[in-house]
Amino acid sequence: MDKPIRGFSALGRLALRVRPAPFEPAYGLLGRLAVRHGHTSTREFISEMAVGIPNLVHEIENGRRLVELALLSSVPETRIRASTLCVDENGAMFIGAELISARVFNRVSCGAGRICPDCLRVDLEDCAGPMACRPHRRTWWGLAAVTSCPLHGLLLIDACPACGVQLARGQASPRFCRCGCDLADQGSVSLEPSDLVADRYLVGRLGGVERVGHPLLDRMPFQTAALAMLRIGRVTLAGARGLSKKEDNVEPAMQARMASLGFRMSESSR
Ligand SMILES: [Zn+2]
Ligand SMILES: [Zn+2]
Repeated sequence: MDKPIRGFSALGRLALRVRPAPFEPAYGLLGRLAVRHGHTSTREFISEMAVGIPNLVHEIENGRRLVELALLSSVPETRIRASTLCVDENGAMFIGAELISARVFNRVSCGAGRICPDCLRVDLEDCAGPMACRPHRRTWWGLAAVTSCPLHGLLLIDACPACGVQLARGQASPRFCRCGCDLADQGSVSLEPSDLVADRYLVGRLGGVERVGHPLLDRMPFQTAALAMLRIGRVTLAGARGLSKKEDNVEPAMQARMASLGFRMSESSR
């Protein structure tokens, strides 16, 4: 287990706090702390606080320095870790108890600060505390294997509909783009229920929706299961439509369709 760096605990806790939110990754919690202290950018907040840890934002975005974040936020480290993509001492990637990948695999994380606009609206209506701190990120929004919100049947938004720039995780609130666009006011592409099957399965493994069992995929680490679904679906479609077998990067809606098809095929081919 990490120890806080020397001198850090002397800095003490922040004056203002936020309520921990379910399934929120560490960088999301740090962002909401920044919002609570009047900042729109996480980096700006950290630089103003002068905590003395180089690259603290980058470290936290990569699931490190959770002990320090726990000290700053007064949220228990175990709670933060339970919904944050972390690498253990053997190089295996976990979110809580869920094994994501047996070794470090860069493409697990999607990099962007994707959001579901309906989730943001639900947060604004249902969460407690100051309005600005209510919208919160979900750990699966940051995973490349997941392209939709199975709760709302929408594709996740990865670029701002107003300015076209990729949404960033360093933006303190998931609700606003850097240009000021209110993402809670936006719509997104609605998917057919049959194309939500794969993400429902994956998010179910993380506890975000009801868990669906699968005889084959349940035995694989999360990322392996996601890739297996995608590849089985791709091969199944390729026969009919002549898609390139080398095509690993597909449009999000097509990824959802292929992976969902892969889920069903691998279920029935047992
Ligand atoms: Zn949603
Ligand atoms: Zn924008």
